[in-house]
Amino acid sequence: MYLFYTLGHFPTYNFRQLELENVDRFKPEIIASYVVKYGGCYGCAMRCWQFLKTSKGPYAGIVWDKPEYETQWAFGGNLGVTNLEAIMQANMLCDRYGLDTISTGVVISMAYELYDKGILSKSELDGLELRWGDPEPVLELIRKIALREGIGNILAEGTRRAAEIIGRGAEKFAMHVKGLEIPAYDPRAAKAHGLNFATSPIGASHMMGWNYYEIMGVPKKVDPFTTEGKGELTKLIQDETAMYEAAGFCQFVFSNGMVPLPLLAKLLYSATGIEEFRNISYLQLVGERVFNLERAFNVREGLGREHDTLPERILKDPVPRPPAKGQIFELDKMLDDYYRARGWDVKTGKPSRKKLEELGLKYVADELRLE
Ligand code: SF4
Repeated sequence: MYLFYTLGHFPTYNFRQLELENVDRFKPEIIASYVVKYGGCYGCAMRCWQFLKTSKGPYAGIVWDKPEYETQWAFGGNLGVTNLEAIMQANMLCDRYGLDTISTGVVISMAYELYDKGILSKSELDGLELRWGDPEPVLELIRKIALREGIGNILAEGTRRAAEIIGRGAEKFAMHVKGLEIPAYDPRAAKAHGLNFATSPIGASHMMGWNYYEIMGVPKKVDPFTTEGKGELTKLIQDETAMYEAAGFCQFVFSNGMVPLPLLAKLLYSATGIEEFRNISYLQLVGERVFNLERAFNVREGLGREHDTLPERILKDPVPRPPAKGQIFELDKMLDDYYRARGWDVKTGKPSRKKLEELGLKYVADELRLE
């Protein structure tokens, strides 16, 4: 998390990207000092699970799994909170209540900003005062959201619907795409990653199109701030995500380059005996077909280019802190580039008949009545 903060990807204070005080507390050696046990899913060599323990202070007694990067961000930097033990408590509460930590953290960040801007009053917040950096109201809001109590009943709707219910300009502070809260990467500071959020069929999912070129520099380093070539790169990663997911792989395994394409082809062929799986181009075609099918579903339901967008803050407000200082997201230019790379209609964002037929999806083009 500390690394991504220094690289500029990590959003702070509801994506306002202000300098985060005491960010040093997120250094990996500090969180590692709480680890008491490692583990992993059955048969996986990566064993990415870590269990933490707190033994003193107000949050003593937690023995739970480690808040992942997105959770450290959603209950940490995006709220100005740097108290690691409070973040562990928030993570544990969400797990126990069955709440998603990204969506819960982002809707709470919106509430903090609405209070800060005077849009939500203390009485509307059931007496809570939401001061950036204070984790105690966060823990109370998690409980209220889970039990749909007071203001929690509104926030439980998620940022888009909660902002509509609150009104008074609250929509401006709702950080979502197609109703799904944006995870821990600022689209202005990782342009292909952001383009992926804008065009993802399920909104700004942290499980879709994680751009390892821009974020990790693997298998090849790409400048995260440039718009050059980002349509093609976004398409590549989205199709790979769809392909690996169709093959039943955990996202961590392929986004870290542990199972490159030639190995995937061998594994699939060994497991199934299906000859086509030996052919990497065929696997890539499968990924592209899945992604186009998802897009076609959305088109049938009335979604198009106008829905491939990002919050106003990301499009209009330059990032104030280095190294992404001055960056905004150039949406129209990047969408044109992306639709061209996909072989879709640039004006509407619909897949073209030619592309769908090339992917073996003629029946989908017919159903959509594409010319
Ligand atoms: S990398 Fe994926 S499959 Fe392996 S332990 Fe972690 S979550 Fe489980």
